[in-house]
Amino acid sequence: MATEQQKRTPNTSRPSDKGSRSASRPNDRPHNPIPVFENSPTFQMACQQLNMVAESIDLDAGVHERLSKPKRAMVVSIPIRMDAGHTESFIGYRVQHSLTSGPSKGGLRYHPAVDLGEVAALAMWMSWKCGIMNLPFGGAKGGISVDPARLSRGELERLTRRFTEEVLAIIGPRQDVMAPDLGTDEQTMAWIMDTYSMKVGYACPEIVTGKPVELGGCVGRREATGNGVIYCVMEALAELDLNVNEATAVVQGFGNVGSVVCQELADRGVRIIAVSDRTGAIRNARGIDIAALTRHVNAGKQLCDYPEAERISGAEILTTPCTILVPAALERVITAENAPKIRCRVLAEAANGPTTPEADVILSNSDVFIIPDVLCNAGGVTVSYFEWVQDIQQFLWSEEQVNEKLHELMLKAFHQVRSLAKERNFSMRLAALSLGVQKVAKEKLRRGLYP
Ligand code: NAD
Repeated sequence: MATEQQKRTPNTSRPSDKGSRSASRPNDRPHNPIPVFENSPTFQMACQQLNMVAESIDLDAGVHERLSKPKRAMVVSIPIRMDAGHTESFIGYRVQHSLTSGPSKGGLRYHPAVDLGEVAALAMWMSWKCGIMNLPFGGAKGGISVDPARLSRGELERLTRRFTEEVLAIIGPRQDVMAPDLGTDEQTMAWIMDTYSMKVGYACPEIVTGKPVELGGCVGRREATGNGVIYCVMEALAELDLNVNEATAVVQGFGNVGSVVCQELADRGVRIIAVSDRTGAIRNARGIDIAALTRHVNAGKQLCDYPEAERISGAEILTTPCTILVPAALERVITAENAPKIRCRVLAEAANGPTTPEADVILSNSDVFIIPDVLCNAGGVTVSYFEWVQDIQQFLWSEEQVNEKLHELMLKAFHQVRSLAKERNFSMRLAALSLGVQKVAKEKLRRGLYP
């Protein structure tokens, strides 16, 4: 039986799987854009990146068409009783980009700016990330348009449980597995796990990852994304022949990922000279004591009130000269406007999508070494995979095993990307995206187009 690959149209300059696309329109970009995504700059950015990959590698045109849209998207209204007695409803999303490689996998985000296009872009990036790391997952993402800081713990619990109930039809340990992201944490995952378990009638820890260790969570998962970032940064410093002890770092975001990155860099002798979070930004050229800053924040004080540093504007954080710049908060913060002012040697994209395509072009003409998001922050989903495997097998790993395996897989991925970049004269981003897209594309071609 002919595979989709074998069905290539001989007279076209780009191959097509002859799926929804005929040989008469071989070189076009994917068509029939989905109207609800059209206005999302983040989704457009993800599609632009996919198009860039398609132009650089021999991507089957039919597969390109299929990968340019999410497989499934669900929008739900989530009404909850607020503490004050009235009812408020929030809008939630779950998008599954690809189901080809296994269950879909991706975080759940609580942020006021969450919309369907952003979630769809993040789901697409998750597919490439799982591809780069060679994990048996497709990409997914979810989110609720809400400011979690405005809600009480009780309200957050009711919101999370009702959201779980609303998306029940499309999630499952073999269908779609959630994890924490911006504005959510291991407690959020515990509520999802409990709600799902109550529905199916037995404890089902494998429905989420990033949950508390006592509920089947994986040791080291909380630190995994930050640790993965650090492993990549250390490889980049070595490649650039830069001394760790003379390096300085600036980190945007002091949450799960940003705080771990700060602490791990500081432990390795890097001077952290500026940090920011949603409350503001601080700088101290002599270095910020991260343990003291963590105590300050954990005591419920605002990061920007930390007394041993000067306050700077949120915008200044990204243009502060340093060796290592780590955006670890939101997407699209490095733009055509501030990219020319960026003064770092290594840009470690801990956040998803922090650099717009326009900024990417500007930075690619500078001496900034970019560790692209789909590689840089892939430690999180990698240890999520370890957690899922342990829950299914009911066989727990030690923290050493987790960290050793994470280190091994991150280094392998980093050097695969680096080698491809050198071999094909690709940027690190193009190399990383190409690896991720290729893996999914190969699987799609092998499976063929149903029916
Ligand atoms: P988090 O909610 O724990 O922390 C987010 C941090 O960003 C907080 O300190 C918050 O105050 C700060 N922030 C919010 N708005 C800001 C602004 N305008 N300026 C500066 N700081 C701001 O979230 P997280 O889990 O650390 O995720 C951070 C980023 O990393 C996100 O892009 C997320 O998608 C990505 N990521 C997270 C994981 C994970 O395992 N948690 C995995 C892969 C990628």
